[in-house]
Amino acid sequence: MTFSSKQRSDVLQTMSEKQYDLLVIGGGITGSGIALDAISRGMTVALVEMQDFAAGTSSRSTKLVHGGLRYLKQFEVKLVAEVGRERAIVYENGPHVTTPEWMLLPIYRGGTFGKWSTSIGLWLYDRLAGVKQSERRTMLNARQTLEKEPLLKRDGLIGGGYYVEYRTDDARLTIEVVKKAVELGVDAVNYVKAEQFLYDERGRITGARCRDMIGGRVYDIRAKKVVNAAGPWVDALRDKDGSKTGKRLQLTKGVHIVIDQKRFPLKQAVYFDTPDGRMVFAIPRDGKTYVGTTDTFYDDDPAHPAMTEEDRDYLLQAIHYMFPSVGVTADDVESSWAGVRPLIYEEGKNPSEISRKDEIWTSPSGLITIAGGKLTGYRKMAETVVDLVAKQLEKEEGNTFRPCQTKQLPISGGDVGGSHRLPVFIAEKAKEAARYGLTEEQGARLAKQYGTNVDRLFALSNEYDRSSGLTRETFVRLVYAIEEEMAVKPVDYFIRRTGALLFDIDSVRREKEAVVAFMARYFGWTEEERDMYGKELDQELRRAVLAEEGEE
Ligand SMILES: Cc1cc2nc3c(=O)[nH]c(=O)nc-3n(C[C@H](O)[C@H](O)[C@H](O)COP(=O)(O)OP(=O)(O)OC[C@H]3O[C@@H](n4cnc5c(N)ncnc54)[C@H](O)[C@@H]3O)c2cc1C
Repeated sequence: MTFSSKQRSDVLQTMSEKQYDLLVIGGGITGSGIALDAISRGMTVALVEMQDFAAGTSSRSTKLVHGGLRYLKQFEVKLVAEVGRERAIVYENGPHVTTPEWMLLPIYRGGTFGKWSTSIGLWLYDRLAGVKQSERRTMLNARQTLEKEPLLKRDGLIGGGYYVEYRTDDARLTIEVVKKAVELGVDAVNYVKAEQFLYDERGRITGARCRDMIGGRVYDIRAKKVVNAAGPWVDALRDKDGSKTGKRLQLTKGVHIVIDQKRFPLKQAVYFDTPDGRMVFAIPRDGKTYVGTTDTFYDDDPAHPAMTEEDRDYLLQAIHYMFPSVGVTADDVESSWAGVRPLIYEEGKNPSEISRKDEIWTSPSGLITIAGGKLTGYRKMAETVVDLVAKQLEKEEGNTFRPCQTKQLPISGGDVGGSHRLPVFIAEKAKEAARYGLTEEQGARLAKQYGTNVDRLFALSNEYDRSSGLTRETFVRLVYAIEEEMAVKPVDYFIRRTGALLFDIDSVRREKEAVVAFMARYFGWTEEERDMYGKELDQELRRAVLAEEGEE
């Protein structure tokens, strides 16, 4: 099946003519993971996403594949163990989108973690996650801690814990999972909203009536089983199914800010205390430092959370508190992103205390809902959901399916021969790049970001047309995003296919006109459409710096 945005309508037409084993609603990491698991077991699978893939929470996280050290403080040992063990699997299956990142946890007199509790906590964290010997935590004294990160506050510093986590690109991780699912046969389309459910005469769910948010047409997609993986929107869908009873979601908002390394030259990723007793991350990445997150209850539209002045000032204060020599101000905040956590409501708990555990509910009509959880645990969550689907289909339809296959299934671009081979792979591709008119540096950058799919991008370089006004690198990225990653709008390209709006916002300002013009020609947009998509991008550029009037 194709994953080109030019063929969206054809794919939708085909989808409306079939009956699937499984329809997944939601193209975040949870839904994409479920689709991949199900197809690799032999089910027939459709997936619809009402925005772009990963446009919900899955492009708005802290971008860490981690067990959640702080949950140990809440004695969530099982959660930490389960999610922690998944880190290595996520890494191994997609080393091009996940990188080990050593994390420094400075310890202060009277801070969240004491020296002994940090030592024991990190020891336990590593054991629970099954971390290999060479990557186990070490404890540092104050001098060693400052050597790792000289910008840290010295006052009251008594040492540090140094341990391994993994950094990822959440949106690209999601896209690579969904691409692999499509490669194996899933029919997946973005900008298609499940508006209502279809039922048989016994009231059993049989699919969903879906609207193409681009073309406007409505399609019925039929399936024996339907999974609601709609993240912050799962309750809205349960409501449509008439089954929003018992447990419900509690949304909390989390914001991250991005500052140039010239203004905040952080050497080392740090997990540190805030003045109000929470913990936040500061992480160096691609010439920038990003800091987050906030955690506040959220009741507005989950599609458009944005950073308010209050969020920004809270994070700036946290930076001043832990890195006193770093005099960053609001003017230094180049970009930001805000996401909402789909957590499960717990009476009387504040946002940071609510558990990150996932839960699965089956409604009387048969709608299966998965809620809560973490990006890191997506594969395991998918396994649990698809086990349930398989069991039901085996019982009701007499089908048999293979057991879960995803533990050793590389995601798209991840088949580089194991994580240990990635540096060699990148070096080889960097050398090859010259044959395609690209520099060694560009070749390395593309290989690192796209893994084994880099060959497709290299091949596109032969079609480069200078008159497009795009650089060669942007041309190959953009055409690849459109033809093989279903990018429909300029914002899809700049936010979720490349992350440029978050980590290189100036490049977006430089390239936006050429990109919008190219897409307008490619898709044959009317003047009105071109204007609309251009304005949407401008709005995202403004919102990255601060929420607009009336927004939360
Ligand atoms: C600030 C913050 C920081 C975080 N940091 C981390 C971290 O560092 N590591 C980690 O492991 N986890 C982290 N998380 C958690 C993680 O991001 C989420 O658990 C995960 O992304 C949830 O994915 P999802 O697919 O369930 O939801 P989403 O990504 O929101 O996907 C649901 C999708 O369903 C679609 N949808 C909704 N309704 C419909 C409909 N009717 N029809 C079609 N489609 C529909 C939506 O458009 C959306 O794209 C963080 C979360 C936040 C908010």
